[in-house]
This record gives sequence, structure tokens and C-alpha cells, in this order.
Amino acid sequence: MKAIQMVDLKTQYQKIKPEIDAAVIGVLESSAFINGKPVQDFADNLSAYLGAKHVIPCANGTDALQIAMMALGLQPGDEVITPSFTYIATTEVVALLRLTPVFVEVDSQTFCMDPEALRKAITPKTKAIVPVHLYGHAANMEAIMQIANEHNLFIIEDNAQAIGSDYFFSDGSKKKTGTIGTIGTTSFFPSKNLGGYGDGGAICTNDDELAAKMKMVANHGQSKRYYHDLVGCNSRLDTLQAAILNIKLRELDNYIAARRKAADYYDNAFANNPKITTPYRADYCNHVFHQYTLKLEGVNRDGLCEYLATKNIPSMIYYPVPGHRQKMFDSFNLPQKDLMVTDWLTERVISLPIHTELEDEQLAYITSSVMEYINQ
Ligand SMILES: *Cc1c(COP(=O)(O)O)cnc(C)c1O
Repeated sequence: MKAIQMVDLKTQYQKIKPEIDAAVIGVLESSAFINGKPVQDFADNLSAYLGAKHVIPCANGTDALQIAMMALGLQPGDEVITPSFTYIATTEVVALLRLTPVFVEVDSQTFCMDPEALRKAITPKTKAIVPVHLYGHAANMEAIMQIANEHNLFIIEDNAQAIGSDYFFSDGSKKKTGTIGTIGTTSFFPSKNLGGYGDGGAICTNDDELAAKMKMVANHGQSKRYYHDLVGCNSRLDTLQAAILNIKLRELDNYIAARRKAADYYDNAFANNPKITTPYRADYCNHVFHQYTLKLEGVNRDGLCEYLATKNIPSMIYYPVPGHRQKMFDSFNLPQKDLMVTDWLTERVISLPIHTELEDEQLAYITSSVMEYINQ
């Protein structure tokens, strides 16, 4: 059996090697390393795939969030509501821009922002909401949009973990996650569902004015060459990454199908076990399984991780410390938050290996090893 990894990028590369190698050599030979043709091609291809009017490539998913917040003209002291149960980038950027992060609770089933908690957190200073489609499962966007519209708030969807997921609205229509709110942001970090071979990110919107502004912000606030109208930053997707992502974007739906197949295998193996709750799948979206995350009850989680490690099975805790307990926010003197669901999840979640290359033999070994520990 092949060694088990959280993500197997090497085997995935082997399957598309001729195309990737040719694309990389093409960039080397053109030597257009910055803003070469593949960058605009990728923006167009991703825009067509997502059904978003504008896609602006940038350097990484964290920058994408920052550029979005800068372009919305948010000012120090403005409140931005985000879940605490997310990767730190989501809230770090809020703090970096001296905006005020307001942490809210997540839904214990979806792991995503709880719309009722969101409603209660709104104050006259609230300007924007950042729902995160965590682990590849969408937040309840219909409820969140409703609240945002009532209070005239911006929505930035952090779609770093859910690119390619479909969202189904109650009127029968559907959209890709990341294209529902005011702005969507994503990351092409290698282990993400659409990963490059280095850093990368993108922002999308259907708003022409915002798109123009975000393009400027990402390029030193420049309106025309050497004329800088805004304070911006320097955030570009490089041509090599764009050339690679053009090829990988064509595979994205296959990659999602492979992840969902692995998730189905796990679901079946862990079904009806009182100590294990398998990932919830709301009817309103299709889960793209960036992570496969279990909730454990009455199981020594550290013990399970150690047991799996002895059997050469990696596992991860995403995330061991929620945002509202991170030291980086100490100087913000934020009001004390009592986020019981978030704390509860932090202690009970465990993520198992999931990627596009898992074989049944590996899945059988992982699931039987988990069951051995649980049933001992
Ligand atoms: C990965 C990730 C980011 C940041 O993306 P980078 O490309 O690593 O900067 C932001 N938010 C979430 C939820 C992520 O998973």
C-alpha cells in the first residue's frame, strides 16, 4: 500500500505531468514571468467556471481578503463579523487593517457561521460580514444574505476551502460559492481543492466598480502607469502559477468528485457509531470536502491521533485554538466572548486524510484503524 498522506500532491501531479511540464516550459521560454498571457487566460477561465463577471488574480488567499476589505473602504473602528472557528487569515486581515473583528458562533452541524448569532452581533458600527465556507461546506448564505440586506452590509465570502461548490437557493436557482455575496475570495495554496505549485489567490465580484477598484488596490493603487490614486499593495499571481492553474482548473470537477467519493467511503464506514458524527451535508449545497472532519464524543482524541500515527496514518486538528482565544487580538481589548459551540467543536473535531488520490485499500486501512481504537 502507498504511504498515506493528508494530501498527495505528488501522485496527482504524475497524472497531469506532460501538460504541466509543457505549460511550465512555455512560461520559461516566454520569460513573461509577471502578467504573462496565462494570467489573463486564467482570470477568464475562472470567471467562466464560477459564473462571476470579474476575477482578479492575486498573490494568495490572505491578500484576497485584504484587498476586498481595502476596496470596500472600511475604516478603523468599523466592525467586521466573522466566525471564530476558521483559519486565522480570515480574522487576521481584519485586525491588520485596524478594523474590529467581531467573533460569532458557528452552527454545530455545518461548522459555518450561525445566522442567528450573526443577527445578534450586528451593531450600528457593523459594516461587513465574512462567512467562511469551512472544510468545503457552504455557510447558510440565503439566511446570511437576508440579514445583510436588511442592514445594508457587505458580504465577503471566504471561499478558500470551497471553490467549485454549488449553492442551491430555495427558488430553485443555483450559484457557485464565492459568487453570492458582494465579493468572494479564494486561495490556490497547494493543498487547497484548486491548488497551484506555490502561493496564489483570487477575488471575484459581479460589481464593475468594485472590480476596477480591487484591481487598482492589488496594483499599488495605480490608475494608469505611475499614477497612484489610492494606497494599495502589490499582490500578483505569477505567470507560472497561472499556467499551472489553467490546467488544474480543467480537472477541478474531477478532483471534487474524487474527494466526495472518499468522503462517501468514510461515511459508510463510520455510519451509526454513537461516538462518531460524520460531516453534515446540507441540502442547500454540495460539499466539496476540502477536509473530512469528524466530531468525536466520548473518545480520547489525542489518544486516537497518537494511535493513528503509530499506524502511519496522519490526522490533523483544524483548528486547535479558535480566533477569539488567539493572543494576536489581545491589544484589541475585544469584549469577552462566550462561544460555547466553537469551544466545544475545537475539542472534538479531527480531520482524516482526504485528497484526490486516496485508494480503497488506504481508506479501508484508515477506517479500520479508527474503529479499532474507538471500539477497544
Ligand atoms: C487557506 C485559507 C486562507 C488563506 O489563504 P492563503 O493563500 O494561505 O493566504 C484564508 N481563509 C481560509 C478559510 C483558508 O483556508
